Amino acid sequence: MAKINESGITTMQYIEKHTTPPKDWDKWFTTANGVKSFDYKKDYQSLTNLKLAKIFLLDEQHGLCAYCQQIISLENSSIEHVTPKEHNVNLSTNYFNLVVVCKTQIKDNDGKVHCDKQRLSSLMSPIIFYGNAEANDSKTNTYFGAYADGSVFAKSNLDEQTKKQAEAFIEVLNLNHTQLKETRAKEVLDGINAIFMSLPQNQKKAFWKNQYERILQNKSYPFRQFLLSYIGSKIGIN
Ligand SMILES: [Zn+2]
Repeated sequence: MAKINESGITTMQYIEKHTTPPKDWDKWFTTANGVKSFDYKKDYQSLTNLKLAKIFLLDEQHGLCAYCQQIISLENSSIEHVTPKEHNVNLSTNYFNLVVVCKTQIKDNDGKVHCDKQRLSSLMSPIIFYGNAEANDSKTNTYFGAYADGSVFAKSNLDEQTKKQAEAFIEVLNLNHTQLKETRAKEVLDGINAIFMSLPQNQKKAFWKNQYERILQNKSYPFRQFLLSYIGSKIGIN
């Protein structure tokens, strides 16, 4: 069983969790009958303040899906259990186990969707999920690399176990869904590459470094980790 670590959750992005749940957390997870819920599935209908928990989580993730990092809003996102409620009901209303994710259900050519709609209740790697003490936002590309075609991959220099976990993570969530790849490549990377191409030679070197810094500072940048991995490899930050 994954140990819940309060430092944060590393997925495609590093989600910095507060060290304690927000003060109203229990209130948001109290049923209409006034009972603190420990079972999201059972109590879902009577948790009338769930929206407030979602707003909090959305803010914590700077408005990005915990898995694919596309921009999400209150309307097009849902609360996701990192360890699925089917596997551990005790964690189903635990702040450290909850994130928000996209609701996209567009089917790829192979009929697959992505993120939690594809994952359903599969268990995924605890090591990547519950960041260890050394994990932080700028180290997430230790696990994932990015190609110009918009796809992501597990870094080859990882130890075998971690590599398998990173691969499984991409696979289970289908993070190389055609639409995700195209959006990363066309809507995000193409624009940056176009600027790069237009620059005079003497400015090109500094360009990637500046872009890296700019995106690192902006935690609500869509597909941020994809870009940090892609640009990071160009400037030797891995
Ligand atoms: Zn997503």
